Amino acid sequence: MLNTAIFIVEAVAGLRAQSLSLLMDSVHNLSDEAALLFVFLAFVLPLTLSSALQRWANLLNSLGLVAVSGVMIWQAVERLAHPVPVLGSVPMAIGLLAAAANWGVARLLLEPSRRNPTIHLAYLHNLGDVLVSLAPVAAGALIALTGRSFFDPLIALLIAAWILWSTALEVLQSRDELIWPEQIVCGHD
Ligand SMILES: [Zn+2]
Repeated sequence: MLNTAIFIVEAVAGLRAQSLSLLMDSVHNLSDEAALLFVFLAFVLPLTLSSALQRWANLLNSLGLVAVSGVMIWQAVERLAHPVPVLGSVPMAIGLLAAAANWGVARLLLEPSRRNPTIHLAYLHNLGDVLVSLAPVAAGALIALTGRSFFDPLIALLIAAWILWSTALEVLQSRDELIWPEQIVCGHD
């Protein structure tokens, strides 16, 4: 629910304030939400069903993120060429809210993360997301200080680049486990 709140508030505020950096972070949080949902399903569904679901989730998640990042990079480049005024206070305020909410998600995952490595990974990811959500805050502060809106598409480009980089790294490092999660065994008989 916290994640849904982050996604909706960032998307609405990002659209109204024409802030690409907020929109980029809202898309990122939507994909995180899908990931959390599938972790949850993996715990409650039978193994064969949950590994099939996880495989699709992983594929959709990484391909979806790459596609959306591509669209946002194209938009950001267009914005840099033809600047649009962005009110700096909106990404600042909403970014701070999103950072606080991501910290809340991480706090909720802390206790169960001590017993499960998958949840631990999600916990670490959400801690990192506190910082990512502060990127629109930095964009808003720079716009407020300098009066120049190009900081918004610039920061959106940086977030998109970070998402592409971390997705590529993840897929390259664990492509077999991502496509065939049932091959992951615990090492016991
Ligand atoms: Zn994330």
